[in-house]
Amino acid sequence: MRITLVVPCFNEVDIIEQFHQAVSHELAATESTYEIIYVDDGSKDGTLAALTGLAADDPSVRYLSFSRNFGKESAMLAGLRHANGDAVILMDADLQHPPELIGRMLDLHDHGFDQVIARRTRAGDPAVRTVFARAYYWMINKWAEVELIDGVGDFRLISRRAVDGLLELPEYNRFSKGLFAWIGFDSVVFEYENVKRETGRSRWSFRTLFEYGLDGLLSFNNRPLRAAIYVGLSLSLLAVGYAVWIGIVTATQGVKMPGYATLIAAIAGLGGLQMVMLGVIGEYLGRVYFESKKRPHYLVKATNCRSSVADPLGPGGRA
Ligand code: UDP
Ligand code: MG
Repeated sequence: MRITLVVPCFNEVDIIEQFHQAVSHELAATESTYEIIYVDDGSKDGTLAALTGLAADDPSVRYLSFSRNFGKESAMLAGLRHANGDAVILMDADLQHPPELIGRMLDLHDHGFDQVIARRTRAGDPAVRTVFARAYYWMINKWAEVELIDGVGDFRLISRRAVDGLLELPEYNRFSKGLFAWIGFDSVVFEYENVKRETGRSRWSFRTLFEYGLDGLLSFNNRPLRAAIYVGLSLSLLAVGYAVWIGIVTATQGVKMPGYATLIAAIAGLGGLQMVMLGVIGEYLGRVYFESKKRPHYLVKATNCRSSVADPLGPGGRA
């Protein structure tokens, strides 16, 4: 069996050598042949030089370097496109995904699972973040049609046919957690102890997490648009009810004119609601806009991938 390891790297120069040693050790211990594809996502810290160095010493290393930072989703996509393995393992370069788990993943794959998913515990996470995450996953699983599991990220093994399935999803907005769930196939989840990042910085801040959360809500369904219809209908009903009530009160008790507070509250409340709904529509429209441009997901600046499967929409490729 051939294994491909896909590793997106963004400014990981401090740890990449250590990472490479650790995974090479684990991979050599398996009976399979392997290749490691490092995707340099437009790093500014010499990651590319480190990667060319690794490639010069180790024939199993392949690398791609993007012309700028296109984001981890694009980096993973590039790696998957170039992977030749019968199974692909996606892994972060920062050693937060323990290389020791590779063997276990391969074992589970041998039992016939197309996706072997590693799920981290939330040990060591800030409590607030854990609470938000729990609430979020609860909500999104009620809402969206694909099931997302708390603590599950991109660290996983994917069989060849599942990879081919993923590559058939051409969308520009790639919410990979959802894509992985969307393709289906037999999956198994196993848990590992959360590891703290040792060098460098995580790309997540509260704001980026919030936006990622919104992405998740919007990427896989049109329920927010439906919600607008229901909210609108309920408000109209409420308004009719209120009008009838005012009519009755006026008829029985004569005309009174308090109502100022009610009026202001209604104007502000309804104005806010309308803006939110406009935002929701705008968000979907923006997605349509980006999809319709059909831009490539990334541009490659340097690579040693001989068999480069051209990005069908990307550099050199003509859509
Ligand atoms: N990464 C990337 N492009 C980016 C940001 C991150 O390729 O724009 C890589 C990064 O080098 C690492 C992985 O994606 O290998 C996960 O990033 P990070 O550790 O910042 O995220 P977290 O572990 O906090 O989810
Ligand atoms: Mg990390």
